[in-house]
Amino acid sequence: MATAARPLDARSDLVVDTYELGRGAGRSMLVRRTAEAPAELGIDVIGVPQGSPVEFDLRLEAVVEGVLLTGTAEVRLAGQCVRCLVDITETAVVDFQELYVYPDNESGDAETEDEIRHLEGDLLDLEPVLRDSVVLELPFQPLCRPDCPGLCPDCGADLNEDPEHEHAAPIDPRWSGLASWPQQQD
Ligand SMILES: [Zn+2]
Ligand SMILES: [Zn+2]
Repeated sequence: MATAARPLDARSDLVVDTYELGRGAGRSMLVRRTAEAPAELGIDVIGVPQGSPVEFDLRLEAVVEGVLLTGTAEVRLAGQCVRCLVDITETAVVDFQELYVYPDNESGDAETEDEIRHLEGDLLDLEPVLRDSVVLELPFQPLCRPDCPGLCPDCGADLNEDPEHEHAAPIDPRWSGLASWPQQQD
């Protein structure tokens, strides 16, 4: 079962009560709300700070098997440029579409059951969908700007601040021998 062992808390910002939707296929409801970002939403180099606002704009539609969720979430991202290590903050909008099957509508097939999301009673958990869509959207190599030159490999100076930066002579005399070596032949 993909559903968490812990029962959903109807008061959580990340849980939507679909009761008013009923089970009449074709009915829909719109939900706009701001939730607090859960912990550990992201990857090592960039992620959504815990407790930062997540703005959901959702449409829930009753279909035969369950509730179809379509929507977007606007999140704040915080991370570090992988080249110059400066802090990056930006906003991102992720979108998603996910079917939540009615609890009594189990396929019985253990293999596919794992990938299926279920409603818990009338409650729908936004957190797993938010996690999946945010992680997909995150850059694996976040950059402060696309052409960030990074740090000087010799002295570590930030080349964003000093683009003309160069070293007239090798810093360390031990390298001077290497510098005079002929280019390697192919
Ligand atoms: Zn950078
Ligand atoms: Zn340098």
